[in-house]
Amino acid sequence: MTQNNKMSLTSRIMLGMVAGVFLGLLFQFILGDKEDVLIPLGLFDLAVKGFFVDGLFHIGGQIFIASLKMLVVPLVFISLVCGTCSLSDPKKLGRLGGKSIALYLTTTAVAITVAISLALLVSPGVGYDVPTEAAFDAKQAPTLTQVIINMFPTNPINAMAEGNMLQVIVFALLFGIAMALSGEPGKRIAKVFDDLNTVVLKLVTILMNLAPIGVFCLMAKLFTTIEMGLILGLAKYFFTVLAALFIHALINYSALLKILTGLSPITFLTKMKDACMFAFSTSSSSATMPVTLETATKKLGAHNSVASFTVPLGATINMDGTAIMQGVATVFIAQVFAVDLTISDYLMVILTATLASVGTAGVPGVGLIMHAMVLNQVGLPVEGIAIIMGVDRLLDMTRTAVNVTGDCMVTCVVAKSENEFDTHVFNDPNAAKNLEKLD
Ligand code: ASP
Repeated sequence: MTQNNKMSLTSRIMLGMVAGVFLGLLFQFILGDKEDVLIPLGLFDLAVKGFFVDGLFHIGGQIFIASLKMLVVPLVFISLVCGTCSLSDPKKLGRLGGKSIALYLTTTAVAITVAISLALLVSPGVGYDVPTEAAFDAKQAPTLTQVIINMFPTNPINAMAEGNMLQVIVFALLFGIAMALSGEPGKRIAKVFDDLNTVVLKLVTILMNLAPIGVFCLMAKLFTTIEMGLILGLAKYFFTVLAALFIHALINYSALLKILTGLSPITFLTKMKDACMFAFSTSSSSATMPVTLETATKKLGAHNSVASFTVPLGATINMDGTAIMQGVATVFIAQVFAVDLTISDYLMVILTATLASVGTAGVPGVGLIMHAMVLNQVGLPVEGIAIIMGVDRLLDMTRTAVNVTGDCMVTCVVAKSENEFDTHVFNDPNAAKNLEKLD
């Protein structure tokens, strides 16, 4: 074991993150706005910008994200096939689906209700002057019918190539069921899938050990370029979203977990640290999925038969953090443009944002694009999105961590209710130590 391994993986990722933020802010201070005021960059500045920021950090960060994404399709497909095939009772699958979808939608509706209530209390948009140049090119959001039809792949290879997770999930489920019903040949293939699963999980472990460097590069690049000044102008909006995110993650999830499973919320939240840091630094619940799945099974104790279904499904359709941003943003934009929304408008916002969360891909910034659908629904100007865009990156990072926490919370509830949950693993503080070992 090297010296490095004496520190836990979580501490190393945390160290990489803090060092990246610190160095990024330092570089931002050194580079300042020289380019804007036409002071030529000196040799040192050019070295900082060209070699480190646009060079090493950019390359390191992008390779890290790419390798996480590389694992998503094989991991979801293989572990879901294994999970479905190992379910002893086929009826269980229907129950699992029903429970998970109901819980995902309910938690999202609760999240957005909290967000709207808090925003109405704080009134973040009152007294905010609309910038004249605000412009936003709204993209067409898919309709619900389209979302449902699109879940079924015409070509599974194409679905995998495009990373269309809902289609991959549907194909893996059908494949797993067929395998379970195929007798001996099914059993033989199941063995191969089990072995493949072990290999892919090893790949996740290898990657997780490189995470401190990847997270460092992502943070250093982001914080060199991020415009912190913009937050001041939108402080009320920014902190209302943050407050609602924390209320939902710490209070609502804790209450739901305690009531529905009796498990300790403190243990749950402590075990979510790694997944949250991945989500925070990548801003993508899809890229974080390999870590979420490991967390749900190896640290929290949900069996693979449930987690392999609920985690990818959650990363695709469950976006509580995103819905929270959309709730606060709707109230903010309505107040900025002095539009009075009625109770039925707010109900419509809750409904649309919950459905929008189903259609939001787990990649950076998509929540803001989907927000156009919510605004359109209640007749608010989509240009409002341009106002909040500048501060969205930091909020995106935080809401992605909430999205991922929600996926794991629902996974625990469903797994516990199906008796597919290992409480010893959940209560063991060292449960995931083997996760970090490469041999
Ligand atoms: N970045 C979020 C996620 O991946 C989606 C969003 O809110 O834009 O979960």
